[in-house]
Amino acid sequence: MSVQHHATLNLASLLKLDPELGAEVSGEGKFTPSTELLEADGLRVAAPLHWELTVRATGGDDYILTGSVSGPAVQECRRCLTEVETPVRSSLIYPMLYRPRRGGEVLTLLEDDEDDTLVFSQPEVDFAPLLTQVFAIESPLTVLCKEDCRGLSLDGVNLNDHPEHAPPAQPGRSTPSPFASLKDIEL
Ligand SMILES: [Zn+2]
Repeated sequence: MSVQHHATLNLASLLKLDPELGAEVSGEGKFTPSTELLEADGLRVAAPLHWELTVRATGGDDYILTGSVSGPAVQECRRCLTEVETPVRSSLIYPMLYRPRRGGEVLTLLEDDEDDTLVFSQPEVDFAPLLTQVFAIESPLTVLCKEDCRGLSLDGVNLNDHPEHAPPAQPGRSTPSPFASLKDIEL
């Protein structure tokens, strides 16, 4: 099975000289961000991402994009480096402008103090780069495989699987045990 790297909508029907107000184009599907996109956002995914998008004409050259992207992000537990899947869902809404142009990026994001506006230059728009970015922003910065993950021993053994590898308590070591302070509590 071939891998789908694109999330493309053809907006030609919206770009008639006088688009009817409220006219819209929708689509949905699954895509796997290309290696390039994943690396740009420091992202990994466990399965293709589901996307759905609608572009609606709001008069003149103005459009509005709404939709969502969802799927499993993969990250390493920050203590034991085990891979953890996190379900991520992000919705998006952007004003869009049509500025026909040949060559260059078809879809660009104009960042502004007020609103970020998407500018598209051709009727056929691949939203995969935008969707990947929106998905990456919604992904957690760091993850734990479980709340009480025991992490790795100094020689790299996963202490969740091999608790016997934990260094024996060494009296007199400079690192206090997490329970050391209990000794001071008067019962
Ligand atoms: Zn862990």
